[in-house]
Amino acid sequence: MSATVHKIAVIPGDGIGTEVVAEGVKVLEALRDARGRPLELLHFDLGADRYLRDGTTFPAAVRDTIRDECSAVLLGAMGDPRVPGMEHARDIIFGLRFGFDLYCNIRPVACLHDSLMPLKGRTAKDCDMVVFRENTEGVYVGMGGQFKRGTPDEVAINEDLNTRKGVERIIRAAFDYARRHGRRKVHVVDKSNAMRHAHELWGRVFREVATDYPELETGHQYVDAFCFNLIRDPAQFDVVVTCNLFGDIVTDLGASLQGGLGMAASANVRPDGVGMFEPVHGSAPDIAGQGKANPLATVLTVGMLMTHLGHADDEALLIECVRTAIDRRVCTADVGGDRSTREVGDFIVELVRRG
Ligand code: ATP
Repeated sequence: MSATVHKIAVIPGDGIGTEVVAEGVKVLEALRDARGRPLELLHFDLGADRYLRDGTTFPAAVRDTIRDECSAVLLGAMGDPRVPGMEHARDIIFGLRFGFDLYCNIRPVACLHDSLMPLKGRTAKDCDMVVFRENTEGVYVGMGGQFKRGTPDEVAINEDLNTRKGVERIIRAAFDYARRHGRRKVHVVDKSNAMRHAHELWGRVFREVATDYPELETGHQYVDAFCFNLIRDPAQFDVVVTCNLFGDIVTDLGASLQGGLGMAASANVRPDGVGMFEPVHGSAPDIAGQGKANPLATVLTVGMLMTHLGHADDEALLIECVRTAIDRRVCTADVGGDRSTREVGDFIVELVRRG
């Protein structure tokens, strides 16, 4: 009996997205060939180049193929100075995130090597948390508007949307994750002292959901205090759940404890259906096309993708490969090496082949 083949949609996107995804693809192929993982890669030519060529952003046919046939999407990064309105990026990212209702943005904030830890007196083991960022609500829904634009009386409003359903499902996902992975504590991070309506809901739902997980400790921090404590003592955090906007911001701060944006991976998932996996960083136009992009965030992202497909041992292997790359300085300049994007990818592939 042959194993179910998992189809993976590959969308490189823009800038360094294309460079790091090329390495991610090599790693997926190595997992397929050396470890017998039943993977089939479907490559989609979508991004700024395609948009500028023929106006295509995110065709319905691609959406349907992903929905009906694929187990996961590997996405690079979107954003190109030639498309200042980001029309293509919006269609592709929102098409995936909102279209497939991928409400869990899971962002591990783990420092994988002592040499990457920027805090005095701390080691890598002091930073090992996972942030659950709500991914479909908050200010990202784009509700609001401008009134009397360009006049001295102008008004600009962005609504912060929080639904009971949306808040509860991300909080539950964080608790479920903590339980499944043997984590001990879940923190909710909000600003309920200022956002008295929306974040009162977050706190109330958090306390209610927590009663279903009596074995887990719980904690609450205002987002400003959380930022302060993340730098002062990251070891106190384990699993953290927060809203869309704060999740975006605090995980960039978190990335600085991991060695930078080139080390930060993420998954956009829901318990059933296709998941979308992308490094946290953007398209970085300043270094695009120069072989300087660190592909290790994408390697770690591929690891999360493999766990999603039921191969958590592949993620564990890839995390070890990344540690080895940093340890032997087979890495890009941002994390202390002098190798190119491709050389780092080749090294990881070699390690995967050796198992
Ligand atoms: P976005 O708005 O799309 O999230 P951003 O403005 O936050 O993007 P990024 O493109 O994520 O910016 O990156 C910010 C800077 O960090 C880049 O200009 C680049 O110098 C550096 N950087 C980001 N990702 C990487 C990487 N993978 N390797 C090396 N440097 C990186």
